[in-house]
Amino acid sequence: MDEIRIEDLKIYAYHGVYAEENEKGQDFYVNAVLYTETREAGKEDALTLSTDYGEVCHFMNDFLKIHTFQLIETMAEKTAEQVLLHFPLVKEMDIEIRKPQAPIGLPFESVSVKIHRGWHKVYVALGSNMGDKQAYIENALQSIKKNEKIKNVKVSSFIQTAPYGEVKEQDDFLNGVTEFETLYTPEELLEFLHVLEQEANRVREIHWGPRTLDLDIIFYDDLVMDTEQLTIPHADMHNREFVLRPLCELTKYYRHPLLGKTVSELLETLQ
Ligand code: AMP
Repeated sequence: MDEIRIEDLKIYAYHGVYAEENEKGQDFYVNAVLYTETREAGKEDALTLSTDYGEVCHFMNDFLKIHTFQLIETMAEKTAEQVLLHFPLVKEMDIEIRKPQAPIGLPFESVSVKIHRGWHKVYVALGSNMGDKQAYIENALQSIKKNEKIKNVKVSSFIQTAPYGEVKEQDDFLNGVTEFETLYTPEELLEFLHVLEQEANRVREIHWGPRTLDLDIIFYDDLVMDTEQLTIPHADMHNREFVLRPLCELTKYYRHPLLGKTVSELLETLQ
């Protein structure tokens, strides 16, 4: 990706743990790298096709002057989030906040915090087999679309499928997949999906049993992770036609980072 770089933007502001820092203020310096595509703007010589670095500088300056945070970690975190939310062509960014007058009581050049944040492409499977299935799924999709940390939501068509797993005596499922970009980490996304499941009054009594709403993270960029809480890519997605078929509508050629096959190849293998 291309980069727009801002170096040592000086901002007089009031952040710090000590009351004196909040009252008197001091200089902070911001370094930022905006990851974006500049080719179209470069070819057409048109600022409207790029991100105006002047605007980003004023935006960060205003944001950091209006708010008072204790930590430079928070300054970096919140500023990155705001820039990513307000400048749609910025896909990822590095931000470093430097505080050369930090009250350390020893001679030093500077202290700083540097972070990298960005939008992540994810696929989430949705399923319901209790009550008004369509309504549970529609409600979840509405909440997903309304969330400010989520954008560019696409939705597959939905299919009716027979129950999967050990408990067969239950109603058919309605299944589909949604694709979107998000600022959430995988754990934060799971937490948000759990809230949606709870809003749908999901009763978690029987494993594999009926459910008003089931939301599973299928892919999160090319990430591979396996913790007690989360397995990504979803551990059983390649065995589930009701995931692969709608997923195929959205991303036929996405390659499973562990199995090495595209979504359409996984579907073919299963069939
Ligand atoms: P389930 O009964 O299928 O809804 O299981 C939900 C639990 O599975 C969640 O509370 C997660 O901790 C765990 N889990 C592991 N991997 C995933 C994933 N990729 N997406 C959603 N939940 C997951």
